Amino acid sequence: MATDDKRPQGATDSFDVIVIGGGPAGYPCAIRAAQNKLSVACIDEWKNKDGTPAFGGTCLNAGCIPSKALLESTELYHRLQEEFATHGIKVSGTQLDLAQMQKRKAGVVRAMTQGIVALFKGAGVTGLQGHGRLLPGRRVEFTAHDGTRRTLSARHVVLASGSAPIELKSAPFKDPYIVDSWGALDFDTVPKRLGVIGAGVIGLELGSAWRRLGSEVTVLEALPDFLPFTDEQLSREALRQFKKQGLNIRLGARVSGAEVKDNAVEVRYSDAAGEQRLSVDRLVVAIGRRPYTKDLLAPGTGVQLDERGFIKVDESCRTGVENIWAIGDCVRGPMLAHKGKEEGVMVADLIAGHYGEMNYKVIPSVIYTAPEIAWVGLTEQEVKASGRPYKTGTFPFLASGRARAMEQTSGFAKIVAARDDDEILGVHIIGPLAGELIAEAVLAMEYSASSEDLQRTIHAHPTLAEAVHEAALSVDKRSIDSINR
Ligand code: FAD
Ligand code: AMP
Repeated sequence: MATDDKRPQGATDSFDVIVIGGGPAGYPCAIRAAQNKLSVACIDEWKNKDGTPAFGGTCLNAGCIPSKALLESTELYHRLQEEFATHGIKVSGTQLDLAQMQKRKAGVVRAMTQGIVALFKGAGVTGLQGHGRLLPGRRVEFTAHDGTRRTLSARHVVLASGSAPIELKSAPFKDPYIVDSWGALDFDTVPKRLGVIGAGVIGLELGSAWRRLGSEVTVLEALPDFLPFTDEQLSREALRQFKKQGLNIRLGARVSGAEVKDNAVEVRYSDAAGEQRLSVDRLVVAIGRRPYTKDLLAPGTGVQLDERGFIKVDESCRTGVENIWAIGDCVRGPMLAHKGKEEGVMVADLIAGHYGEMNYKVIPSVIYTAPEIAWVGLTEQEVKASGRPYKTGTFPFLASGRARAMEQTSGFAKIVAARDDDEILGVHIIGPLAGELIAEAVLAMEYSASSEDLQRTIHAHPTLAEAVHEAALSVDKRSIDSINR
């Protein structure tokens, strides 16, 4: 798509707000700023593999959206084979059409990224496709994809340049054998043997998707504990479920090298037993992401980076340089699309002189495996370590009528509440649609609800949400549909 800005080249254009980066942090910031009656330009340099520019950043083009599209298709394929017969539906002649699956995924991505163009048009945001570089004095150098260059100026500049995958020095990317998450979303055949380095959120989602299509998946994770940032009860259950699904998860396995040889990848790693080798057809490196600020800051802007490369900001996303802000993956905090979005909205409101605040304590996290995993707030071990007396309640999906009807009974909902005032401190769910169910917990915690508040809230029957209700009741040993222990 060409830029929709028709002003003459070489002109100095001024805006109230220029946002650099059109991912899930930058584009909502631009839209909210325009809603606040400010003149706004959003500069984005993303190009897809075929060279077409697209707004939406990592999330829409290479992250959240394509991964969920692929997870949905592969889960349907898996359920068709494993579950339909239980429902009394006999299917024969099932065939995998991976090319169509990938085509559908691309269509989902296209619809979403083109949607941003329409949203910009509707809100009156000037979308500029090309590179943005902050110059001193709140000026921005814009280089369009065709190489033409202009200097823009703004009252406020918001930096939203996102993140990039971390490369493992000992296993450098080598397309199509050793790939990052974007490469792993685009395989055109199902790898017979797939290696994944990193049992984080992205590694587990990608490993699950290809496992469902038949890959033998081995996940190598350097840390000795599985999902160490989640509630221990939840990570135990998750590990059990993933192993049952055939994911070969090796903990305490640190990769030290990988070479492509004879159409395969030879991986070297060490674990408690010593040096090990693994041969796979494709290797995904999913060891995390780093802030991306390449050519973003000209000398003399005064914007500071921390030792890990994140743009330094305060709790309101101010960089410390007057009217220069930074949001999303390029600043501290969890690398999540919804975190970036809320920061963008907050900054656009603050710029307009409105109220704006982020509650960093209540950001939900979701792993879109099957079963899904979702949580918000503190884990039981964190509350225990804080010394605050607490109580917990859990409810298994096995006891949920709706989960049984869906044939999706794995997992549980768990609530951790303070013993003194009953405030909900954390909610942890592993089970069907956990990512949707967590929204109720987020709202409850946003309003500092007690477990009793949830207990006294009527939940429709039969729904999965009743599991959250029953977990709240179980906090005070008042669960109706499960035995209180
Ligand atoms: P980005 O999305 O990275 O966008 C930044 C944009 O700025 C890019 O388009 C980039 O090209 C552009 N840019 C950078 N520098 C410049 C410059 N100088 N000039 C112009 N443009 C520039 N998060 C979730 O919340 N839920 C999920 O389910 C989820 N799934 C994921 C799955 C995968 C496989 C991956 C890789 C990530 C996933 N994430 C998920 C994380 C999510 O994608 C990021 O947190 C999110 O994209 C961050 O948004 P952002 O706007 O800060 O950065
Ligand atoms: P995340 O940061 O959630 O994307 O997860 C990345 C995971 O990769 C972390 O759990 C790291 O411990 C893991 N990891 C990082 N380096 C290595 C390595 N060399 N070998 C195996 N696992 C690694």
